[in-house]
Amino acid sequence: MSRYQSVIEPFALAHVRVVAGDESGTVRNNMTVLVNAAGRIEQVAPSTETSIPEEYHYLDGTGKTVMPGLINAHTHLFAQGKPLNPKLATPQGQRLVARFVHSALGKPYMASTVAQNAKTLLESGVTTIRTLGDVGYEVVDLRERIAAGETAGPRILASGPLMAIPEGHGAPLIALTSSTPEEARACALRNIEHGANAIKIAATGGVTDAQKIGEAGSPQMSVEQMRAICEVAHENGIIVGAHAQSAEGVRRALEAGVDTIEHGSVLDDELIALFRHNPNSLRGYSALVPTLSAGLPLTMIDQKVTGITDIQLENSKTVVEGMVTGARQAHEAGLMVGVGTDTGMTFVPQYATWRELVLLTRFAGFTPAQAVHAATQVNAQVLGVDDVTGSLEVGKAADLLVLNTNPLQDLHALEHPALVVAAGRPVFRPSVERFQQIDQMLDRVYE
Ligand SMILES: [Zn+2]
Repeated sequence: MSRYQSVIEPFALAHVRVVAGDESGTVRNNMTVLVNAAGRIEQVAPSTETSIPEEYHYLDGTGKTVMPGLINAHTHLFAQGKPLNPKLATPQGQRLVARFVHSALGKPYMASTVAQNAKTLLESGVTTIRTLGDVGYEVVDLRERIAAGETAGPRILASGPLMAIPEGHGAPLIALTSSTPEEARACALRNIEHGANAIKIAATGGVTDAQKIGEAGSPQMSVEQMRAICEVAHENGIIVGAHAQSAEGVRRALEAGVDTIEHGSVLDDELIALFRHNPNSLRGYSALVPTLSAGLPLTMIDQKVTGITDIQLENSKTVVEGMVTGARQAHEAGLMVGVGTDTGMTFVPQYATWRELVLLTRFAGFTPAQAVHAATQVNAQVLGVDDVTGSLEVGKAADLLVLNTNPLQDLHALEHPALVVAAGRPVFRPSVERFQQIDQMLDRVYE
């Protein structure tokens, strides 16, 4: 079998240990998985009861573990995840970068950057992603090319630019801005007309571009604007994620009807009830996607090393504390908690989705089985793709992650996949370009 194939060749993955990705951590030994020419799972059964059709490639999986491919519900593909230059996070800096990426030179640069980063995600075991804030519609284009089998990559839900207020979080680099519900609606419609199948709102300020202490979580967009965005998205069957880094920001976004709260904050009973039953959301509930990977490094690594400003550090401390507490509370309350890392942000490499699972066990009370469950089946449900992916069920896309050891015993098993299969297309000997300094630093602080 060639390294990347546009035509899917059926294969059997024989004698593997299957980790189902359910909450209780079901493991079945000596199983064989059949993948058909449509790239779908045809059968998952004990090897002794499986007859492999002659025309199927045979992959011996003895000693290996297979689980559903990971899903990362919060990514950005415009950067690799090395530290962002704090100067570029200022409004002036962002305007400069924005001018470049929308220029004749910048567009092809962006197209190849997002393709490369998506490939890195894939080779790290991630077979579905949602982007939440793109420069333009370059990820929409990439999504189509991947779906057509023209290039390797994960299944993508692409947001296009996020929805913000003028000078708000993400503006102007990765945002369309609006000041009224009518304008907000027009912005959301523009994204949808350009093919976006996810919508992102900046409900509050953020850490990276905050210019004063307290700005990170302070509410920005009005409930009415957010409501207008949710309405137009939901009319089109599209879920809305909102960046919200304070309790008040979370409350307003939930009231407006957003389907996922990104990052999050300290919760109270009222907020927990609103997550569980949210009449304005698309499916009647909202989920939390904490991104521990994005916040913790800024507070745990020495400021001299991170190079962040005093303002960024102070804002980080507040929002990270809230985010970690909120994640734990949501998990304890049995809310839907998805897994996202905010790839592309400072210290969040595209290949490090596995770290978020480790962090959820360390800081938010998850068992390894629950973390695997959240990153597969729960994420699929939260993103509304559970009819095609998230578990190893017959008929679903063959999104497989093959590992050398059992991740339920040690989640570090996820760090170096043996084989990744996306929609039936295998990536043999997956490898990514790692940033050794960042990896060592993170290994050290998370030890
Ligand atoms: Zn983000």
